[in-house]
Amino acid sequence: MPYVGRFAPSPTGPLHFGSLVAALASWLDARSASGRWLVRMEDLDRPRVIPGAADAILRQLEAFGLEWHGPVVYQSARLDLYRDSLRNLETHCYPCACTRKELEDSGLALDGSRIYPGTCRGGLAPGKAPRAVRVQTDAAPLRFMDRVQGEMEQSVEREVGDFVLRRADGIVAYQLAVVVDDAAQGVTDVVRGADLLDSTARQIALQRLLGYATPRYLHTPVATNNAGEKLSKQSRAADAGPADLPRALEFLGIETPEGLASKELREWATGKWEPASVPRVRAAPAAS
Ligand code: GLU
Repeated sequence: MPYVGRFAPSPTGPLHFGSLVAALASWLDARSASGRWLVRMEDLDRPRVIPGAADAILRQLEAFGLEWHGPVVYQSARLDLYRDSLRNLETHCYPCACTRKELEDSGLALDGSRIYPGTCRGGLAPGKAPRAVRVQTDAAPLRFMDRVQGEMEQSVEREVGDFVLRRADGIVAYQLAVVVDDAAQGVTDVVRGADLLDSTARQIALQRLLGYATPRYLHTPVATNNAGEKLSKQSRAADAGPADLPRALEFLGIETPEGLASKELREWATGKWEPASVPRVRAAPAAS
């Protein structure tokens, strides 16, 4: 099948070193497979979207020479598609009346994340109004092979619980939108940061319910700052600039020669891209 990759940033701020790493890895993988590389703006979470960030990201990608194929897709323009897929999943879904406070009081997983205890699975308690929509999950271990992280396994029911497909504020959840779009855009290869590794089993579970093919997955190591925090707007990561390109390549296990201009460096790196050489984790801080 012809390769189709994608970079799917949330426009909550300009690219920082961490998102540049994800974009670059995805671009290199697509490029070395002579595939198509799409850009999709994941702008559904309106309260978190920063005006102007989508354009800033596109200008940064252009400046790095990471050229994409076709028009940029904006999730905010595809709400009908997500609504249809929610309808297709109806028999697997149920309304949930739990408030944030009630969920905060519920069970914690070992890593500190919350597992939904299934409170509303059997129906809403009398007098409770529906808030979110959840999908019923399965306890059977779901396995997949990640091209960098190796064999992964998760029981979505035990380790996550029935998860939200439509939030209490009416916004379609990332997990559903990403699955619908990857299928609609014919994406064969998802390359992104390992902060999303834990979401992958949920996404495969939805692909199976919707009858979609499962793409191949590659999760790059996550870039952290000196305090060990993931680089993000919250951790005040700096905007990615030209000097970050060789650093991002090195972060992905590609030693870069001195003195190459960005364009030569990119072309040179395409020939060197080798998922087997990408480290699974990076202990060293990536911040400049
Ligand atoms: N929009 C997500 C993010 O910026 C990435 C989605 C994905 O690559 O699947 O974290």
